[in-house]
Amino acid sequence: MSFSELGLVPELLRALEAEGYTQPTPIQGKSIPLVLAGHDLLAAAQTGTGKTAAFTLPILQKLAGTAPRPLPRVLVLVPTRELAAQVCESIRTYGRHLPGFKTAVIFGGVGMNPQIDQFRRGLDIVVATPGRLLDLMNQRVANLSGIETLVLDEADRMLDMGFIHDIRRVVAALPKKRQNLMFSATFNPEIRGLAQTFLKDPVSVDV
Ligand code: AMP
Repeated sequence: MSFSELGLVPELLRALEAEGYTQPTPIQGKSIPLVLAGHDLLAAAQTGTGKTAAFTLPILQKLAGTAPRPLPRVLVLVPTRELAAQVCESIRTYGRHLPGFKTAVIFGGVGMNPQIDQFRRGLDIVVATPGRLLDLMNQRVANLSGIETLVLDEADRMLDMGFIHDIRRVVAALPKKRQNLMFSATFNPEIRGLAQTFLKDPVSVDV
């Protein structure tokens, strides 16, 4: 199978070729068409399987195919600042032949002012750890009422790190009508409960 058979646009195919990716990984092969078609996804994926591109590529394509909006449209929740930076880097790499989407990486332990400025200037994509994002929401800096796509990346690690309450509060502020993508390396009753709460008729993807 090739990336073009998955329905990706030439701008993304060029970026993937430049990265030296010759074919989709199994998680990409299964997830990309489902995300493009608008399904909610519950995906079992370890790091190293190419899961970041599995959600980043179709999300970029969907953004590029629609008119710009004033408020952030995509929210990716991640457990750590390292993962947040990595997701942001992937967005920049894969999206380099597409219109420049304004992307912010939001995490705690650093000053808030630069992050506040980023929201004030306007954003398309927010990649965040839940705690700091909630702080910015409570300060009425982060307006998430325009979010169309929610990604919960490494959901099991977010639960292990005690983010469940913050995640629930963040998600409660999102529009009800949205696409949800959840990735987790492991599945236990708590993860399945989270999936039941946040996903709507999800398609399960296992590789
Ligand atoms: P991830 O599982 O998202 O952390 O990705 C693991 C690594 O695989 C990253 O360094 C990616 O750049 C790389 N990668 C992702 N998709 C592909 C692909 N289709 N072919 C080759 N490498 C890839």
